[in-house]
Amino acid sequence: MAKKEFQSESKRLLDLMINSIYTNKDIFLRELISNASDAIDKLYYRSLTDKKLKVDKDDLAINLSFDKDNRTLTIIDNGIGMTKEELEENLGTIAKSGSLSFKENMTKDEKIDIIGQFGVGFYSAFMVSDKITVLSRSIDNEDAYLWESEGADGYTIKKSKMDERGTKIILHIKENTDEFDYDKYLDEYELKQLVKKYSDYIRFPIKMECTHHELKDEKKKEYEDIKEIETLNSMVPIWKKPKNEVSNEDYENFYMDKFNDYDKPLKVIHSSVEGMTSYKSLLFIPSHAPYDYYTQEYEKGLSLYSNGVLIMEKCADLLPDYFSFVKGVVDSEDLSLNISRELLQESQSLKLIAKNIEGKIRKELESMLKDNREEYINFFKTFGVQLKYGVYNNFGQDKDKLKDLVMFYSSKHEKLITVSEYVKEMKDGQDAIYYASGASIAKINSLPQVEQVRDKEYDILYLTDYVDEFCITALQEYDGKKFVNVSDGNLDLDTEEEKEEIKKTNEDNSDLLKAMKDEISDVSDVRFSNKLKSHPVCLTTKGDVSIEMQKVFDAMPNDMGIKAETVLEINEKHPIAAKLKKLYKKDKDEFKKYTKILYSEARMIAGLPIDDPTEISKLICEVIAK
Ligand code: ADP
Repeated sequence: MAKKEFQSESKRLLDLMINSIYTNKDIFLRELISNASDAIDKLYYRSLTDKKLKVDKDDLAINLSFDKDNRTLTIIDNGIGMTKEELEENLGTIAKSGSLSFKENMTKDEKIDIIGQFGVGFYSAFMVSDKITVLSRSIDNEDAYLWESEGADGYTIKKSKMDERGTKIILHIKENTDEFDYDKYLDEYELKQLVKKYSDYIRFPIKMECTHHELKDEKKKEYEDIKEIETLNSMVPIWKKPKNEVSNEDYENFYMDKFNDYDKPLKVIHSSVEGMTSYKSLLFIPSHAPYDYYTQEYEKGLSLYSNGVLIMEKCADLLPDYFSFVKGVVDSEDLSLNISRELLQESQSLKLIAKNIEGKIRKELESMLKDNREEYINFFKTFGVQLKYGVYNNFGQDKDKLKDLVMFYSSKHEKLITVSEYVKEMKDGQDAIYYASGASIAKINSLPQVEQVRDKEYDILYLTDYVDEFCITALQEYDGKKFVNVSDGNLDLDTEEEKEEIKKTNEDNSDLLKAMKDEISDVSDVRFSNKLKSHPVCLTTKGDVSIEMQKVFDAMPNDMGIKAETVLEINEKHPIAAKLKKLYKKDKDEFKKYTKILYSEARMIAGLPIDDPTEISKLICEVIAK
């Protein structure tokens, strides 16, 4: 019998499939099962209008079987079937629009992209088969037809027999190669796994004869193999069920099973959205961070389904980075099953879904914070860093969405509060939101700069996470109130009188201050100040980079050379100030020693290293031994 040629474009696609440009060969089964399910759907719809067509809903099914010896895998459906013409048109040509054209110099990725537009579909079966036989009988025809192809050089089609309407696809599975184990498609366990993984929620039962090893005779320890038809898929996805039909336990079991967590989720968000883009989603906020959450290995994303069929296991585009901890599934009929990753990213429907989902998660967190603060604080302790990171990531473009979800430790309340709560409690005359950063709450508490602000009974936000200060810097202000670091050299809590007074002291002692600065060249300024209560000295900063930020930069592998501009401030009311003035006049050598010791003290308090501790300890001994 004469071989018919595939349409030239189909031929090239076949070439690509046979040479497997797709790394994930497993998906062929999903494609064929999905076609089978569509064919049954079509039949069912026809039966709704065509009274002559008798369809028993309970008979509708997809059957899988395999034959190891003959290396065949067979998929049978009792759907609408195909006529001779349909077989030729559907399986002999790809892309009815005919616009699929591969250019000679296209890269592999570009080809994958184009294929994605038209769907890998039926042809994907050539990734695993060296011959495909399709026997089909349409509801519109008594005759059945047999279509057969061994790949790109064509197909044959001839009249045949088939007892019932439907389609039977026989794949002749390739021999194993060094690179790939094709035998797995002839293995009961593997096939079960594949169906569970990709086609669990197909609406019709996917049946296969399975073998159970059962004890026949207890005494003789004799076993026998019992064969039994099993339905491999669960058919109804939990996210498609109405909320009132799903118990908390159902949600929890589904979550723990699907996302391999030993713990129940903290929150479940189940929604069904109808509109421009319709979808159902089932989202979970875990109660603890996955073990790899803060590593490079962690992959964010939601499982994406198109009408019950899995398209992508982790669709990253559905979640912003700041909600990367969320797990779940999204199912939309508005997404094409065969869409490629690249095109999916461009899909307007997907963008809309992603936007809605972001909003839903945010709302859920906002109401958790409002209605169940304790729960929220637990959540925040686990994933708060991610939210703060979201505030400053992408040049702060999402900060307004997140600013009411971040919390900081309040010096006054001694617990986490939101910025909005801070602002509501601001005192008359207070025009800034004060914060201080350090390695721990205890360390910040003992910062000299904190004292003056606390004396005024202003609350201070204590920043102890490395991301905190970057987050605050990105926020810049809240409700028109600026954030001010208590260690900022420009911190301005003095009265006009006090300001005048200290200005004069600094002017009168400019020579002394210059001499100190020359002695410790890495500060940008030395000055007297009245912001310190009991401490003799402290380090403050000028400009945008604080000492704590510098520490973060210093810890990064690629040293960007970003340094804080530091100022050594000396408490004007402390006896040390008078001592310095006296030494400057009488004993320059001693004055220099004092300068170095005081500067080292200030660095120590700020948690910065001292360049030459041996020298400093020697100097201290010299001074105290006097
Ligand atoms: P797609 O499913 O994306 O249209 P395929 O290459 O998988 O692309 O299938 C091409 C067409 O062949 C389908 O649209 C359908 O009309 C027909 N077809 C495939 N499998 C079956 C089947 N089991 N029963 C009936 N028709 C089928």
